[in-house]
Amino acid sequence: MASLRFLGAARTVTGSKYLLESGGRRLLVDCGLFQGLKELRLRNWEPLPVPADSLSSVVLTHAHVDHTGYLPRLVAQGFVGRVFCTAATADLCRIVLPDAGRLAEEDAREANRHGYTRHKPALPLFTETDAIRALSQLQPFGYERAAPVLPGVEAEFVNAGHLLGSGFVVLTIEGPPPVRVVFSGDLGRYDRPILPDPSILKSADVLLLESTYGDRLHEADDQGEHLAVIVRETAQRGGKVIVPAFAIGRVEEVIYWLRKLEERHAIPVLPVYLDSPMAVEALQEYSARSYELDVDVRPGHGEVSAFCTRRFRLVSSTQQSMEVACTKTPAIVISSSGMATGGRVLFHLAAGLPDARNTVLFTGYQAAGTRGRDLVEGAREVKIHGKMVPVAARIEQLHSMSAHADQTEIVRWLSNFERPPRITYLVHGEPGPMDALRDLIRSRMNWTVETPDYLQTVAL
Ligand SMILES: [Zn+2]
Repeated sequence: MASLRFLGAARTVTGSKYLLESGGRRLLVDCGLFQGLKELRLRNWEPLPVPADSLSSVVLTHAHVDHTGYLPRLVAQGFVGRVFCTAATADLCRIVLPDAGRLAEEDAREANRHGYTRHKPALPLFTETDAIRALSQLQPFGYERAAPVLPGVEAEFVNAGHLLGSGFVVLTIEGPPPVRVVFSGDLGRYDRPILPDPSILKSADVLLLESTYGDRLHEADDQGEHLAVIVRETAQRGGKVIVPAFAIGRVEEVIYWLRKLEERHAIPVLPVYLDSPMAVEALQEYSARSYELDVDVRPGHGEVSAFCTRRFRLVSSTQQSMEVACTKTPAIVISSSGMATGGRVLFHLAAGLPDARNTVLFTGYQAAGTRGRDLVEGAREVKIHGKMVPVAARIEQLHSMSAHADQTEIVRWLSNFERPPRITYLVHGEPGPMDALRDLIRSRMNWTVETPDYLQTVAL
């Protein structure tokens, strides 16, 4: 008898972790960090309900930290098994996880320096070394070919269209009768540039479905028009457009649209600076794996990469970053982090916010408590590197670049199923969107849907 336990992303959007027990062995699908509210983040420090060394393997849906970032911690606690994922997920993990380790070490140093810790000294959740050890356990295999991940359990990845390398995980547990368990991971969107549409799945006995935007519809695609207006107006004022962007996934989309707009002569050809070491590395992965992406981003004749504009510059050193921050001529600067919580974008904001000619353009969701949220809510000054910086620049936000399916897109994907799964568990959503989606699927499709709680166990 197999069972499934919800160790994360249960009535919340982070910490994705699902424990499968079958034939006396244990497997974890996704191994994400909890992020955001403190009560959630504290869960990263609690011991797992089962010892890490009792797990035989891990399977990852995609490389985002809320699905992979706990892996170094798991390894530090004694997990020695293999971590199955797609090849692109493995490559992106090589960028994401060591960075997460460096950040965790930095957090611990900060806590010690400012004394805001009950533990003396504060220790990092995990270290860069733990992250590098975790990487050595990655075991990539291709899409749509089943491979054994536990005795009696096979896994297959099917493209989810959410991020380079992202996949639904289809687990088949040996019978009789065999049980087919589908984990949606994060579900991508339809008719978007860069990534393919989410693949069609036709059956599952048990489905775990994400519900981030279960109660919402994304704004209609405007073919970059809003972005074009912002760039044109800022250039006319003689200012810069500063774009805080999530380093993996979002940066590619911003560059894609700038290139399209240049080609259509909808914006002037300006220098475009990409100032984020992690984004530069991720961009190389996207360029190297363009055959996994939408046809329209495969490089044309004589091009090296589709992800560049006419005057595209990669910023490497911190010194160069500060020089770009000080320039006063029209330009576009794309830099991380996406919610302006850290990273090099802070140099650009510190130098650029006081100048009314500039625009700061946020491209994604801004969580409560971040500088990004303060700015989009109209803060007149923000603290950066210990100094108050007045805000005179225009603040804009684009909502159209989400990488998660909205309510209509989720239902569209479900409509491919030839018969309802025996049961569907909604995961990866806040209670509001999750409950709305549950009610909709029950009433419109007549499926059996549940919204399990943190640490709940169900039989398969
Ligand atoms: Zn994701």
